[in-house]
Formats: sequence, structure tokens, C-alpha cells
Amino acid sequence: MVKRICAVGAGFSGAVIARELAENGFKVLVVDERSHVAGNCHTERDNDTGIMVHRYGPHIFHTANGQVWDYVNRFCPMMPYINRVKAVVRGQVYTMPINLHTINQFFGKVLSPKEARSFISGLARGDIEDPRSFEEQGLKFVGPQLYEAFFDGYTRKQWGIDPARLPASILKRLPLRFSYDDNYFSHPYQGIPKDGYTSLVSGILAHESIEVRLSCPYEAVDEEFAHVFYSGPLDRYFNHDLGRLGYRTLDFEPVWEDGEFQGAAVINYPDPDVPFTRISEHKFFAPWEMEKFDKTIAFREYSRSCGKGDIPYYPIRLMSDKKLLEDYEDRCRQEEGVTFVGRLGTYSYIDMDVSIENALAAARSYINTNNPRL
Ligand SMILES: Cc1cc2nc3c(=O)[nH]c(=O)nc-3n(C[C@H](O)[C@H](O)[C@H](O)COP(=O)(O)OP(=O)(O)OC[C@H]3O[C@@H](n4cnc5c(N)ncnc54)[C@H](O)[C@@H]3O)c2cc1C
Repeated sequence: MVKRICAVGAGFSGAVIARELAENGFKVLVVDERSHVAGNCHTERDNDTGIMVHRYGPHIFHTANGQVWDYVNRFCPMMPYINRVKAVVRGQVYTMPINLHTINQFFGKVLSPKEARSFISGLARGDIEDPRSFEEQGLKFVGPQLYEAFFDGYTRKQWGIDPARLPASILKRLPLRFSYDDNYFSHPYQGIPKDGYTSLVSGILAHESIEVRLSCPYEAVDEEFAHVFYSGPLDRYFNHDLGRLGYRTLDFEPVWEDGEFQGAAVINYPDPDVPFTRISEHKFFAPWEMEKFDKTIAFREYSRSCGKGDIPYYPIRLMSDKKLLEDYEDRCRQEEGVTFVGRLGTYSYIDMDVSIENALAAARSYINTNNPRL
């Protein structure tokens, strides 16, 4: 009998690989230890309010890749959604990411784009030529006032360490705008699936050559496979033999209320004396159906170090983790018949669109050398 292929994990990575293989004549078993598909992007209706909630934190789809956008739209229509984040700092509400409105509000000014640019460059620490840490990058980028108000406290809470010990690369991703554009993302395609991410991923997995087995850890599967695509945690695959890679985990504290709670999808709380990092109110992620709900549900989000039984969310990637990662990557190269994919399998923060791009590439590379139809 022809051996099947196994995709470990029914998140975007596992689902997209399974679909691509199935469409090219392979039979695939997808296993996930959770009781649902879609991995960390899982959405479901809250029992009390009927609102679609993003169980593992808010997810907004954004990409510059038109093929990836067409791909997701094939399985569930994407509804227009623009993420406009606010931040409460020292008793005032500001718009994020830092833009002309934020700068003018924060400093009590009415600067034009040109004036703001030269004002900020006057505050920025020009003496830091080659920033080595998050803190140095922030100071060079926006100067001490904005850095301390918007980045320092938030980063300490999010990562649990002094920003002077975090790599500069984390802040390189955050834009600074000298216009009133407060669209959090700058990609041309942005949206949220009409029926939620779980419906979208279920659509990807709905193929006659794919079997999905839920509540099933890979370690409990007794079958020989032609190949395994593993999107679980890399260190777990090797029984943590070399040590544990560092992650941050999140706790979500729900709040139910009549009407609305905060009036926006996401509000950040950078102040160091507030224990949570942000609050997300999920009816605002689906503006097309918001009117239907009298009640609301919001989540305060707390970040902490990831222990043994916790869900790994953000890879920390400190120097010590990078060394351990290299050692595990050596082990991966020696492992035959397995491809490590996804955010956990490669120990990297990747957005959904990148997970899909990478998954398509991994599947196509396998198909090109093992096509059963050739
Ligand atoms: C808080 C947060 C917010 C985010 N927001 C956004 C956003 O707004 N936009 C965006 O584009 N991206 C966002 N992301 C990134 C997004 O979550 C990832 O891109 C996506 O989840 C990657 O999919 P994946 O399939 O690689 O991993 P996952 O979704 O984590 O799926 C892996 C699956 O494997 C299963 N698994 C692991 N080990 C085993 C095992 N041994 N046996 C069986 N099953 C196993 C797990 O249960 C899980 O379901 C966010 C991430 C976080 C942490």
C-alpha cells in the first residue's frame, strides 16, 4: 500500500501543505492535538454574546502577495478590515502606530509633516550610529520622550526583559509616519474572513484525500509515513534533548458587558504600572455584523514566560535561544523524511500570509521531486 504523508498541526502551515499535496495526488493525514483546526488563528462564536472571538489573540490578515490573497479568498470571502490601534498613555488616548496625530497630541503641537520630521530628528539620538539593542534602536528612531511613553513599558511587559537586552530587529518592524495615516499595516490587501479563520482553514482541509484527526498528538500516531511535515515546536520533536527554546505565553482575561466596552478593536496599554499589554474587543473585528450584538466581549491580554504546560506564543530569540536553535537546526538536517515548517517548527515569528507562502513552497518542493502522477 502507498504510504500517506503526515502533516503535524492543523494550523495554516499544516492545512495548506495538506491541500497542495492532496491536489497533486497524495493522500494526507493531518493530526492536531487540539480539538479544533486553525491552530492559533482559531475563531469561534462566544456562547454568551454570539460574537466571533479569536481564541488565541486578535488576528488580522494582511499581505502584499496577491496570490496568497487569492488563495485565502478561494476558501472564505475576506471582508474589508483596517486595523486602527489606540494607545492609552499616562491618562491620554493616542493613535498608533506613531503618526503625525500622535506626535502633535503628545507634544501639544500642530506640526506639518516637514516640521514633525525635523522636530523628531532633533529629539532622536543621532549619536547612536549602529543600534545593537531594542532600546538603542528606539532612542535613535524617535528619541527618549516617545520611546519611554510608547515602547519601553510595553516592551518590558511583552518580553519580560530589559529592552537593552532585546535585539534591535524587533523595533525595525514598527513604522513611524509623518502623515495622519493610522492604518496599522501598510500592506495593500487587508481583511478578516467573513466566517472566521476556522471556517477558512476547514475549507482548505476539505478534500477527499485529506483525513483530519483532532485531539491527537503526533506522538500517539502509529503509522509509517512517506514524509512528515512537522509544524509543532521544534524542541518538542527532539524531546527537548538539547534544552527548551524560550517562548512568551499569553493569558486572556475575558470581560462581558452590555453595549460596548472600549469602542475599538485594540487598545494598547504601554504604561508600566498597568499589568496587561492590551485589550481587544472582538465585535470590532467583524464590523459587517456588529449591529447584531447587544452585548460585547473583550479580553485583557497578559504576557509571561512560557512554562512546561503553557501554549508557546512568541519565540524570544535571545542570543542563548539562537545558539540552541542552531544546534536543533543541525539535528533537523540529519533527520530524514521530515520537513520542519511554520512558526513553531522553525522557531520564528511569522504572520499568516508568510506561513501560507512558506507552506506552499515546502509542499511544491516536495511535489516536484516525488510527484505520484509522474
Ligand atoms: C498573539 C498573536 C497574534 C497574532 N496576530 C497575527 C495577525 O494579526 N496577523 C497575522 O498575519 N499573523 C498573526 N499572528 C501569527 C499567526 O498566529 C501565525 O502566522 C500562524 O498561527 C502560523 O500558523 P502555523 O500553522 O505555523 O502555527 P499554529 O497556528 O501554531 O499551528 C500549529 C498547530 O500544531 C499543533 N501541534 C503542535 N505540536 C503538535 C503535536 N506534537 N501533535 C499534534 N499537534 C501539534 C498545535 O496544536 C497547533 O494547532 C499572531 C500570532 C500571535 C501569537
